Amino acid sequence: MEKQFVYSFNEGSKDMRDILGGKGANLAEMTKIGLPVPFGFTVSTEACKKYYEDGGKIDQGIIDEILTKLDELENVMGKKLGDPQDPLLVSVRSGAPISMPGMMDTVLNLGLNDETVVALGKLTENERFAYDSYRRFLQMFGDVVMEVPMKRFNEIFDGKKAEVGAVYDVDLTTEDLKSIIEGYKALYVEVLGHAFPQDPKEQLMEAVKAVFRSWGNDRAILYRKLNEISDDLGTAVNVQSMVFGNKGNDSGTGVAFTRNPATGEKKLYGEFLVNAQGEDVVAGIRTPKKIDQMADSFADAYAEFEKIANLLEQHYHDMQDMEFTVENGKLFMLQTRNGKRTAEAAVNIAVDMVNEGLIDKKTALLRIEPEFVEHLLHPRFDADEEAAATAIAKGLNASPGAGCGRICFSADEAAEVAASGEKAVLVRTETSPEDLAGMVAAQGILTQHGGATSHAAVVARGMGKCCVTGCAALDIDEEAKTLTIGDKVFTDKDYISIDGSTGEVFEGMLKLVPVEISGNFNTIMKWADEIRTLKIRTNADTPRDAQQAVEFGAEGIGLCRTEHMFFDEERIPAIREMIVAEDEEARRKALAKLLPFQKSDFKGMYKAMGERPMTVRLLDPPLHEFLPKTPEDMEQLSKSSGIAPERLEVLAENLKEVNPMLGHRGCRLAITYPEIAEMQVEAILTAAIEVCEEEGIEIVPEIMIPLVCSRNELLNVKETVDKTAERVMEEKGRRITYMVGTMIEIPRAALRADDIAKAAEFFSFGTNDLTQMTFGFSRDDTTNIIKDYIDRGIWDANPFQTLDQSGVGHLIETAVTLGKKSRPGIKLGICGEHGGDPRSIEFCHKAGLQYVSCSPFRVPVARLAAAQAVIKEEQA
Ligand code: ADP
Ligand code: MG
Ligand code: MG
Repeated sequence: MEKQFVYSFNEGSKDMRDILGGKGANLAEMTKIGLPVPFGFTVSTEACKKYYEDGGKIDQGIIDEILTKLDELENVMGKKLGDPQDPLLVSVRSGAPISMPGMMDTVLNLGLNDETVVALGKLTENERFAYDSYRRFLQMFGDVVMEVPMKRFNEIFDGKKAEVGAVYDVDLTTEDLKSIIEGYKALYVEVLGHAFPQDPKEQLMEAVKAVFRSWGNDRAILYRKLNEISDDLGTAVNVQSMVFGNKGNDSGTGVAFTRNPATGEKKLYGEFLVNAQGEDVVAGIRTPKKIDQMADSFADAYAEFEKIANLLEQHYHDMQDMEFTVENGKLFMLQTRNGKRTAEAAVNIAVDMVNEGLIDKKTALLRIEPEFVEHLLHPRFDADEEAAATAIAKGLNASPGAGCGRICFSADEAAEVAASGEKAVLVRTETSPEDLAGMVAAQGILTQHGGATSHAAVVARGMGKCCVTGCAALDIDEEAKTLTIGDKVFTDKDYISIDGSTGEVFEGMLKLVPVEISGNFNTIMKWADEIRTLKIRTNADTPRDAQQAVEFGAEGIGLCRTEHMFFDEERIPAIREMIVAEDEEARRKALAKLLPFQKSDFKGMYKAMGERPMTVRLLDPPLHEFLPKTPEDMEQLSKSSGIAPERLEVLAENLKEVNPMLGHRGCRLAITYPEIAEMQVEAILTAAIEVCEEEGIEIVPEIMIPLVCSRNELLNVKETVDKTAERVMEEKGRRITYMVGTMIEIPRAALRADDIAKAAEFFSFGTNDLTQMTFGFSRDDTTNIIKDYIDRGIWDANPFQTLDQSGVGHLIETAVTLGKKSRPGIKLGICGEHGGDPRSIEFCHKAGLQYVSCSPFRVPVARLAAAQAVIKEEQA
């Protein structure tokens, strides 16, 4: 049988999302379960792919198939497209396999022309309605399909309004609308050089092509990039018979969620407009009414809608985001999909649905995007400060969280301000898809218009950004760059704070504080802990970070970098003395000054961690990183070290390296200057023994030797470690168990892991360096190159963010296998940035590592991702 490219709504189901797109699959599913859906058909994503393969042309076979399905639709509806007596009108709607809100454009009322508009007026006994629909269609079709600038249409429309003194659109008479329509048609000729296509079939084919083209527009590409959606999926096109929400006061249109998408509360949440069509609700132009007021306008339709909402949630086992229209009191469903939600709502809904028996725990865990969990840890305003501050305005609490920053009146400004390192708050009358980049850059979004389902609200919730919409008190002048609230005028030099949980707006920057894990969030984390097998450690260098990580659920420290302790102001003079020391004696003198500092640092860390394991890495970075940068610092160093300034210059010069990342660093430092390692080991062991004694606990220090590529290097340093440890234990009169291991961060170490494991009790994969050295891409110098690679499609992802499983991952797997061969009980973990990346965590689980280590704020993300790795493995 030949491949099918077009499906009627009664031929599909929700499981055909790849072919029909999300919207098409769900329209088919709703049709299947008997809900009132205007009939139609879906041109598949396969047709879109073919369109691109064919260089931007629709295949004749597909055209024929569309016409056949159109016939069927006409039969079902008993109306024909273009019929001058009783015309069928359709909408043409895009819908990709993954929902991309606001990315693609919908055309309504297709099929109207100079003839059918007359028929529509007669049939509805509402001439004005017919001409208003026609003018909307000319505008939408011109803008979306023919690329006639919307601005030009608006000029004609607003010009007419001014001419006849109309305040609102509804003040325009039929004659006014007719004259606008003539203006629009002339505009087509002026801009395109040909007339508006009166033939509805031509309109239809042009619209289908336009949807396919929109898959390739900049906004869609940016959205896919931000959300890591493949460019190859393609979009489907839905052609659906029109229903009219703008037929008068017993008609209307709206959108609603089965539960509150900001908080998760189990209550219909949405809004509607009486006598309106299509995007009027989400466009933010008219401020809509709350969904529960719908009962007042159309009682029967509302009762039915409540029933359907409930049914859909039971059917999909998930919170639904629905679009509907009421035509002369009758309800029609136009869309349903799993609703986007904030992290807070995701967690609350998941737990509630488990309690309601709608889903099981594992499904609940899979429902929550690990990346999202971090949003829950995002700061809120300091409660005292917020209580003391007076809100200068209040809008809708569209997306929770708090944000503050400089007022930015455009997306570009927000991007610039953010790039300069300052925080930005995007302030707009309303947002549109063009603002996406600015919304990404901003700390929060504040709009004057729009409801809880406006573009700003939906996109902000998707990004986990705080957002306040419908803040009527704002008076924004984009040109003059002023924001007036009451009698106060703010400019782009001023700062504001917004609270997306309350809708309040404050002057200046309020203090932000982090939150803790409690309530349903804690429940989800507990469920994750029950399932996961990976341990989660954290990368922390200070007792405060360690404490924070423990509160977030860290079970140990996978990487304590000792050099960060060195940068402290009090210590850096001693470090510098050590670096420039010209002989061992001078170096030991300087190191002796550092010892007490290091010891107390480690004691602080051990106290914060209790008996939880902690891996301490010996000094790693190239020494010259610590060298003085200013003349004053040089002078001070000269004094403290007793080395003449001229000589210091020479010594500093000698320390310079052409390739410092491949130079004198890591275990190489401990090999040339064993006294550095001695000091550090003494500090570690003394601290551990003292804390054991003080707290009555057992600590097993893990000492990690970095940048090893051969066993003999490791053995050399290990000897220093063991000798020092023996001495310390002797002096302290107490023996403790400690472990010596290494980082695997040079490809050779991974390839020689069996040999190295003979001398190492544990491996920790340092995937930052391992990625750098495997790719031969400096992680500090190639950010722009990598960005360019991704833009050009040479690479899919930045390997420093998401582990390169086939290359670097292959080395890890090799090292795991080889390491276990010579030491079956070897401890294995990862401590690079990838330890906090959900996809990389899944890989680590599969590769057989025992723990991942990540920054404190990523710990909850990792707990969830590790649980998901187990569930996905079970389900595979
Ligand atoms: P989006 O993906 O941006 O939500 P849609 O294809 O859902 O775009 O269309 C936007 C709106 O247009 C819908 O919410 C609905 O109000 C209106 N619309 C689409 N198709 C029809 C139709 N057949 N009849 C009436 N209104 C429609
Ligand atoms: Mg839209
Ligand atoms: Mg929609």
